[in-house]
Amino acid sequence: MQQAEQLLKQYFGYNTFRMVQQQVIDNVLNEQDTLCVMPTGGGKSLCYQIPALALEGLTIVISPLISLMKDQVDMLRSNGIPAAFINSSLSFQEVAEVMRSVRNGGTKLLYIAPERLENDMFCQDLMGLNVSLIAIDEAHCISQWGHDFRPSYRSIHKIFTLWSKKPTVIALTATATPNVSEDICQLLQIDPDNVFISGFSRDNLTFKVLTGENRERYVKKYIENNRNEAGIIYAATRKSVESIYSMLYQSGIAVAKYHGGMYEEERNHEQNRFINDEAQVMVATNAFGMGINKTNVRFVMHYQMPRNIESYYQEAGRAGRDGLPSECILLYSSSDEQTQRFLIDQAQDQARIPIELQKLQHIIDYCHTEKCLQSYIVEYFGDEGVTECGKCANCADERPKIDVSQDAQKVLSCVVRMGQKFGKTITAQVLAGSRNKKVVDFQHLSTYGILKHMNAKEIAQFIDFLIAEQLLLVKPGQYPTIYVSEEGKGVLLAERKVLRRAVVEASVTKKDDPLF
Ligand code: ADP
Repeated sequence: MQQAEQLLKQYFGYNTFRMVQQQVIDNVLNEQDTLCVMPTGGGKSLCYQIPALALEGLTIVISPLISLMKDQVDMLRSNGIPAAFINSSLSFQEVAEVMRSVRNGGTKLLYIAPERLENDMFCQDLMGLNVSLIAIDEAHCISQWGHDFRPSYRSIHKIFTLWSKKPTVIALTATATPNVSEDICQLLQIDPDNVFISGFSRDNLTFKVLTGENRERYVKKYIENNRNEAGIIYAATRKSVESIYSMLYQSGIAVAKYHGGMYEEERNHEQNRFINDEAQVMVATNAFGMGINKTNVRFVMHYQMPRNIESYYQEAGRAGRDGLPSECILLYSSSDEQTQRFLIDQAQDQARIPIELQKLQHIIDYCHTEKCLQSYIVEYFGDEGVTECGKCANCADERPKIDVSQDAQKVLSCVVRMGQKFGKTITAQVLAGSRNKKVVDFQHLSTYGILKHMNAKEIAQFIDFLIAEQLLLVKPGQYPTIYVSEEGKGVLLAERKVLRRAVVEASVTKKDDPLF
């Protein structure tokens, strides 16, 4: 390890390793195949770059982020480390040139895109090299459960047998739920003892979910109150980006925009304005942010609910990279669910739809939970023994908790009486005693109109809360249906109580919001 620390100082100018970095590097240098799960900004790169320097021979880095490869390689070279990359941006001759210089020795790190490994000729070329380490970046791409599955990642393990002595393997990712970690370990044959997960909680971030706000008014007011603070507003669609941008522009705010429908030149221009503090606020789709290293982002606001927790945490996590207090705010409306379902339905790969729907449910639950928001997220990623953050909107909520067990029993028994095969909206209408034609068939039920003192929308929100509490579960599908969980049965049998924060009226209605 002493040697590793010396290399750290010599090439990167840092004095000490972060805790998990040290463990991971030790493990790799002991020739153990390793999985390293660490949040963005946690310092994953050094976990393979230091071993690459310490070991003899070449380290191959497999990365899907072609646009970042050149930056990485330039950075390494400027630190005096011989590195190179091969991807589709190079011509045939350039690839041959890089391979020639790699064969001649000296190169310590070779970055390649995963698709290369499907080329037999290229693999033949690799065979002749002295490879001691294979680093697989963005390793979640190997798993169907990952949020960014790439079929070419499935071929990676085939190259392990190219050499008489298998190189050590290190897989790295920022977003692996327990399911994904298991998949990675199984496909790359990594022993579960060699999985290192570092703290996902970001202590300087304060999380908030706001439901039923007039989003436009909220955003304007927030920015007015936080003049000179840099922030990102993420919106679900390009159209939405354009309208938020115009609204802020007309209010005299220095604003930039970024989405996939803009010309590359314009996108780069806007991105630079934001990075150089010429624009205070960036309004963007999820196309913005990868590889952006702006440390003083004080807030990240989501104008609509994103499609899953992975994307949310990745995007929200762009706030406060400098360690200073920053806010992550999600503006939720129940219509966001339909938007996301629609986007999932449009997906190219039909096989992914059930997985995406399940992931969607987790973020819907996040929007309705009354538990600590930071804990909810880090537990989703597999962190255990998490303590409440003490400052998110839920931890700071001082409204009293009231006993809603009886109303919960009414909802649960209605779900049972309806045969556990209907969705949230219909169930809410039955409980509200709606005259809607679709629910006439249920008028004979003893639970019809049993929650008349609430309207169907309030009941639907209550059902969302019961789902977030795992008392009701959702069977995903084009028309998701709800059913009672084991815990929910405990409520029906009066074995457990249900406590909920006293509900306060939302201050504005959605129709005030001109964007919706
Ligand atoms: P990740 O790949 O996990 O997103 P990076 O490897 O890009 O993170 O590291 C994030 C930042 O932290 C970089 O600027 C890197 O130089 C810095 N960093 C990493 N390890 C250390 C360390 N031990 N000491 C100081 N800075 C570090």
